[in-house]
Amino acid sequence: MKWCGIISIFPEFVQAFSEVGMVRKAIEQQQLVVEAINLRDFSDHPAGYVDDRPFGGGAGMLFKPEPLFKAIQYAKQSAPGPCKVIYVSPAGERLSQSKVLEVAQWPENLIIIAGRYEGIDQRIIDSEVDVLLSIGDYVISGGELAAMVIVDAMCRWLPGVLGHKDSAANDAFSEANNGLLDCPHYTRPAVFNGQAVPGVLLSGDHAAIDAWRQEKILQQTSQYRPDLLEE
Ligand code: SAM
Repeated sequence: MKWCGIISIFPEFVQAFSEVGMVRKAIEQQQLVVEAINLRDFSDHPAGYVDDRPFGGGAGMLFKPEPLFKAIQYAKQSAPGPCKVIYVSPAGERLSQSKVLEVAQWPENLIIIAGRYEGIDQRIIDSEVDVLLSIGDYVISGGELAAMVIVDAMCRWLPGVLGHKDSAANDAFSEANNGLLDCPHYTRPAVFNGQAVPGVLLSGDHAAIDAWRQEKILQQTSQYRPDLLEE
């Protein structure tokens, strides 16, 4: 079971995400716990402020260190065992399928800090954060979506969450797929708007279907992500 505490000023956003789809399924199967931790609960300001202006001037506000520190300590006490603390940030290692698998296999639970505004006080990163992870080379306005991307992608690797036929090992970028894209998929009807499903998929010949899928994996990858073939 993986316990994930997400520290955020929008806990209801995190809560809503954990009530749908695979994340919900993982929670119901007791493979995952998502606890939304409201950073404002750790503010010592009567109005619950958790941010302040940056020293040296400049635009934007920063999360202050004290509430974050207290929230992290609270999360560590709430977790059922040792934790790794992740700060989601554009400065982090860029997330990949192999990194997601690595995170899923860490024995530790996760505490994920979702920043807002200009981010968080550097001293928390220096003293409390184990890993910085980025979801890509662009900036979003808050870390909640990044935290959810990590948890969603990770829960696909938790035992029993996906059924055999949609196993994460068959997904794009996975080792079993040689790090390449997935093949195209079709469902009923066999003809839609004059477009027929490739005949081989209706043939019942599993060896031929496998060969077709392998060929399409290469075609798709060379069309959409030729860089993956070079790697
Ligand atoms: N000034 C910051 C910078 O340029 O790195 C951007 C802060 S951003 C507006 C607010 C928060 O969103 C960050 O503290 C971080 O938690 C999250 N965030 C933004 N882009 C992200 C990305 N690509 N990956 C992960 N988290 C991201």
